[in-house]
Amino acid sequence: MKLYLASNNPDKRKEIVKILRPHGIILPEEEGIKFHAEETGKTLKENALIKARALYELVHKPVISDDTGLMCDFLDGAPGIYSARFAGENATYKDNRRKLIELAKNVPPEKRTASFVTVAVLMLDEKNILFFEGKVDGIILTEERGTSGFGYDPIFYYPALGMTFAEMPIEVKNQISHRYRAFSKLKKYLDSL
Ligand code: IMP
Repeated sequence: MKLYLASNNPDKRKEIVKILRPHGIILPEEEGIKFHAEETGKTLKENALIKARALYELVHKPVISDDTGLMCDFLDGAPGIYSARFAGENATYKDNRRKLIELAKNVPPEKRTASFVTVAVLMLDEKNILFFEGKVDGIILTEERGTSGFGYDPIFYYPALGMTFAEMPIEVKNQISHRYRAFSKLKKYLDSL
């Protein structure tokens, strides 16, 4: 089955393509399709569906997408669905990390628990839409560590391996991450079809 990926984020795309292998993924621009979706939803699920639907309207073929948020316990779940825009509308990954570090600075490490949550969506057609969730727990650091990955990875410490997501190769992140946990469920579903 051909699956169109409704994401313009190159970092996420790289991970998703690897996780779903050997299932083939089509990126919209490979077929000359320009796709854009405003993430106006109030939940990860709504935003994941908004992206999938926007591309589905253009291709009318099975589409996958995801939405991810970093939920910090010491911020009552923020930045959550606002993870990409935490430090403002056009914030860079670095701006967002800097803001989070600033807020985490006066919080003791044992209270800096956080989770990444991904909701992946498989939109087969208008009537068949499936959601798969993945979550991973970690601790927010107040100094960046590592250069791999993207987004909040340099300050997301994964205690079981004693390193941040940015200190591990993509292959390792792709065996434990929120995105892996969501998309491996989606993959299992595809395998069962
Ligand atoms: P999106 O709305 O799903 O594209 O993701 C929201 C934001 O969450 C991104 O802009 C990143 O800052 C952050 N993010 C998403 N996935 C990851 C990840 O795997 N590691 C680190 N940050 C991530």
